Amino acid sequence: MFDTLSDRLSGIFTKLRGKGRLTDADIDATAREIRLALLEADVALPVVKAFIASLKERARGAEVSQALNPAQQIIKIVHEELINILGGEGRRLQFAKQPPTVIMLAGLQGSGKTTLAGKLSRWLKGQGHQPLLVACDLQRPNAVNQLQVLAGRAGVDVYAPQPGNGVGDPVQVARDSIEHARRTAKDIVIVDTAGRLGIDAEMMQQARDIRAAVDPDEVIFVIDAMVGQDAVSTAEAFRDGVGITGVVLSKLDGDARGGAALSVRHVTGEPILFASTGEKLEDFDVFHPDRMASRILGMGDVLTLIEQAEQAFDEDQKEKMTAKLLGGEQFTLEDFLDQLIAVRRMGPIANILGMMPGMGQMKDQLAELDDSHFDRVTAIIRSMTPGERTNPKIINGSRRARIANGSGVTVMDVNQLLNRFADAQKMMKQMGGMMGLPGAGRRKA
Ligand code: GDP
Repeated sequence: MFDTLSDRLSGIFTKLRGKGRLTDADIDATAREIRLALLEADVALPVVKAFIASLKERARGAEVSQALNPAQQIIKIVHEELINILGGEGRRLQFAKQPPTVIMLAGLQGSGKTTLAGKLSRWLKGQGHQPLLVACDLQRPNAVNQLQVLAGRAGVDVYAPQPGNGVGDPVQVARDSIEHARRTAKDIVIVDTAGRLGIDAEMMQQARDIRAAVDPDEVIFVIDAMVGQDAVSTAEAFRDGVGITGVVLSKLDGDARGGAALSVRHVTGEPILFASTGEKLEDFDVFHPDRMASRILGMGDVLTLIEQAEQAFDEDQKEKMTAKLLGGEQFTLEDFLDQLIAVRRMGPIANILGMMPGMGQMKDQLAELDDSHFDRVTAIIRSMTPGERTNPKIINGSRRARIANGSGVTVMDVNQLLNRFADAQKMMKQMGGMMGLPGAGRRKA
């Protein structure tokens, strides 16, 4: 999903890494590259323009945080702008005050509408609702049958045309289904309507008639994300011709570019309610703009880390650390302890590590990494004298035994910590002044 864009963006961010501060020229160059990346991802031009204008303004503005280095600042802004164009907070499905809630589905043929009806009904059932699926797609051969199969899998009922009772008239079927839902105590009615290969007058008229007949609480237009920007234009046409209250992105699993997903909210003005990511009924979820933006950036929730770092590392401590590293000073156990405490302020350690890129897949291993490990390390360092913290080389056998005793751990634990620290110290030396610390290399404003 969104592979090309993710790759392009991460390349752009990498270029910013060594920079101490962002000049206007840096911002312009970065904005140009991001603009190209978005255009290549098939994002609609007005969306790209709005995105870039906002990015430039914010990157130049005073809001940039002192706790972040230039690469992090740009990542943060791009992330927030992505969330913005994807719909901000997002919107949940709206339910009728008086059941049944009526949800009308529309979309071009093949967009994934009927599949969505099955997915949505299964999902709603899981939330404790009693949905009724209504087969109003009487145009596509087999659509009614397909809906019945899907409903069987989802474990929900279907209302389909009965012989002699409005056969062939989707508007009548839709109208009758509401009454049927009331009689059978269903609280949600999902109406699957006919799609065409392209938007045409007849389809619009039928959709308008069904809309008038059932007065839906939601009219959801299903967009095949693989089609890209063109799919967004059909949504726009349908919005103008029939009226919609939201969209669902289908086939997001096959969408390598992301153009439809990134354009539809801005272009139609309607929220993305759900995303479909496969052929199976469970390949479906509520659409979360923030999660999607993080996925596009391909950085797990590293952004959350950025935010938390801003809060956890206070300015003084950071300046001190930066000065130290830039000045080529030793990174001591005392500094290590300060950092541990700052990291601990950010929350449970497994959560923090889980947010690092690539660590998300290691959930099981992380679960074992409980916070007591970190508290133990803190206790060990606290049992050392200031001299030992600054110069761990002096920690001989008897000192190790004393420290182990004082912190209630074994000598092996102390050894382990000292070995790890020696490694960390080596690494810090190599990283000094680069990306190592938030704000490293920046002058005080
Ligand atoms: P409709 O004509 O709009 O009702 O479209 P269908 O629901 O029949 O879907 C058309 C095709 O797309 C079917 O082969 C579905 O299995 C497939 N499909 C639907 N949703 C998804 C999805 O999210 N991902 C993938 N990969 N395929 C999907």
